[in-house]
Amino acid sequence: MTSSASLSQLFWTRGDDSPVTHVERIPPRSGRPVAWPGWAAPAFVDACRAQGIISPWAHQASAATLAFDGANVVLATGTASGKSLGYQMPVLSRILTDPRATALYIAPAKALAADQLRAVAGFGLPDVRPATYDGDTARDEREWIREHSRFVLTNPDMLHFGILPGHERWAVFLRRLAYVVIDECHTYRGVFGSHVAHVLRRLRRAAARYGGRPTFVLASATSGDPAGAASRLIGLPVTAVTEDASPRGGVTFALWEPPLQPAFPSLPSSPSSPSSPSSPSSPSSPDVPAPRSPSAAPSSDADFDPEIELPQVRRSALRETADLLTSAVVAGTRTLAFVRSRRGAELVAAITRRQLEEAVPGLGERVAAYRAGYLKEDRRAIERALLSGELLGLASTNALELGVDLVGLDAVLICGYPGTRASLWQQAGRAGRAGGEALAVLIARDDPLDTYLVHHPEALFGRPVEATVLDPANPYVLGPQLCCAASEAPITEADLELFGGDPARAAVAGLTASGALRRRPSGWYWTHAGRPDVDLRGTGGAPIQVVEKSTGRLLGTVDPESSHSMLHTGAVYLQQGVTYVVDDLDLDDAVALVHQEEPNWSTHANDVTDLSVVNVRSYVNAGPVGLFLGEVDVTNQVVSYQRRRIGTGEVLDTRPLDLPIRELRTVAVWFTVSPGALEAAGVEPPDFPGALHAAEHAAIGLLPLMATCDRWDIGGLSTASHADTEAPTVFVYDGHPGGAGFAERAYATAAEWLTATREAIAACACEAGCPSCVQSPKCGNGNNPLHKPGAVFVLDAVLAALATAPPSS
Ligand SMILES: [Zn+2]
Ligand SMILES: [Zn+2]
Repeated sequence: MTSSASLSQLFWTRGDDSPVTHVERIPPRSGRPVAWPGWAAPAFVDACRAQGIISPWAHQASAATLAFDGANVVLATGTASGKSLGYQMPVLSRILTDPRATALYIAPAKALAADQLRAVAGFGLPDVRPATYDGDTARDEREWIREHSRFVLTNPDMLHFGILPGHERWAVFLRRLAYVVIDECHTYRGVFGSHVAHVLRRLRRAAARYGGRPTFVLASATSGDPAGAASRLIGLPVTAVTEDASPRGGVTFALWEPPLQPAFPSLPSSPSSPSSPSSPSSPSSPDVPAPRSPSAAPSSDADFDPEIELPQVRRSALRETADLLTSAVVAGTRTLAFVRSRRGAELVAAITRRQLEEAVPGLGERVAAYRAGYLKEDRRAIERALLSGELLGLASTNALELGVDLVGLDAVLICGYPGTRASLWQQAGRAGRAGGEALAVLIARDDPLDTYLVHHPEALFGRPVEATVLDPANPYVLGPQLCCAASEAPITEADLELFGGDPARAAVAGLTASGALRRRPSGWYWTHAGRPDVDLRGTGGAPIQVVEKSTGRLLGTVDPESSHSMLHTGAVYLQQGVTYVVDDLDLDDAVALVHQEEPNWSTHANDVTDLSVVNVRSYVNAGPVGLFLGEVDVTNQVVSYQRRRIGTGEVLDTRPLDLPIRELRTVAVWFTVSPGALEAAGVEPPDFPGALHAAEHAAIGLLPLMATCDRWDIGGLSTASHADTEAPTVFVYDGHPGGAGFAERAYATAAEWLTATREAIAACACEAGCPSCVQSPKCGNGNNPLHKPGAVFVLDAVLAALATAPPSS
């Protein structure tokens, strides 16, 4: 379309210092339809035709046929590729042709189950009687659903708390259970995913008890190793169908790195530094925690005396997004900007409106902000206004990412990598209309992963490497889940294989010794009154409730693991883009009392961490370099916090805290490098600590490239000499008790992971390290010491040795 063509021109005409690092042209693809499989029920085919589905795409038919033949299958294709038809076809055909068969559909969110219910009911097929069964289902409807529905839609929590504990009442349904559909299965990851894996094993056991042996059909976003992830999730072999045969429009996808520019004098040694300008991007740039947000950066370098040497920072991604949105609206392009936080979205909308008003009075009114929390009618009105062209620009949080059917826009701006490729494509997928050319732009924030991606387009546009990881063997998940299983029916020897073999045997022995389970000749029994209290999203320890002091309103909860650093007394805490200050953290009652306030400082916890190696599961001996995977004990104490002025980063003061030491047994990956090898690689001994520390930060920042985790799920420790390894060492560990699979994935992909880490550091144009490469927003040592060039040498030494190493033992 002409409008987006002119928009592209606006982007590319910035000349040599263009922030565009890559342009990927994704050509339009015509779909590959195939004939309806011969086994598909005629009534189902007719219902599809009546809805305008003339024939299925090839990937839908292959997945459906595998599932119809009884193979467990995962359909892992892109957004809007029609995955639903892939499972509806075998499931509904079976229900139509076998008058007894039942099916269970599991979605991670109630809204998805409601969508799916509408879709299945919309076919108008006889005797299916689809129904959702979740926390909102009325008591008197539940019995009817158990007895009459043949397509029950639920979620993992309801399965765990409601259906499985009452399996006797579901006996008939479970005996006839032909299919289990697991939608959006890539969302079951980490600790939550490990719990869900056991809930599904409990489901298999309960069905088997009544004679049911369902086939599993899973739908996933594209990812690395979808078959492996699906198989770990259900505990059975799974076949993957990954070739997408649906049609799509062409998209021009640009990667954008905001330019470096001098910052304000921002070091603590400059007390006379000017306070941040009153630009709207300064105190309220909630997109990122304050230390990684150099958003006080002025909009033009001209404000500075070039003689003064200043540390460099990147221009704020929020401001770049607002500028692009402004250009887009001026060009008459209907554009949606995705911003990670609510306040960020509102800020982008506000800056854009102001800039537009300055250019053309009245034009500002054609831009709005959109987020969760708006009333449904208001949201619908905004969506309609954007589709009609009445609104030209919208800045949104990911509230728009799922569910809402807003597609066909000219352009999408994505402010900061949204964490996974699945989310990225979900957001980019909003751009594109029939026959037209659409534009998508990813604007990098100052974060090592964003930096890496804008310089390595193959990581986004090539074959995915990021895998969904989970670890059902985590003893902190396995133990509680075995208690749940035992409370549903005694655990037999044969069941132990289902729950993972040796780790399950060890867990049952431990639970018997502690008195949680009792051994009898027929198996292990749960003999306590009441059911075990197990939360699918945790590994023990109550989440800390964040409560507004004046109103008693519950604002949200925080993992006990992160509470000391995020919710200590005096901490500035962001929740959904609103800023609060913590008045008191009461660990005994697991509650933090807060009040709303917007101080002009941010807070940063300082901690002391110690780590000891418990055992080594696997290692690679690469001469001067060693790579290890094993269990570790981490002790951590948050001892104080700094208050830093927003914008300049000036340290106002450091205040002590009185918090207890915490212990964590978890899984870590670590590498050691001999001092000789470090020196040979170019690192001077005084720089060892800074080089290792910088490498650790960047490695943590890049791990989400390999596994769907957040850098906040991971911890690290680096030292020039560790008591257990007797060498310079970098540890990276899962931040959850027992591990969540992240360190394991890091070990398995070490060469790729550390190569990406090295590239991210080397590609950053800063001199001494910045938040885009080696600085970390969660460093407990105030990002000190850090030695950026040394970090590259460390990783060079490790990679060179690993390249010639024998396989792991
Ligand atoms: Zn940098
Ligand atoms: Zn650090």
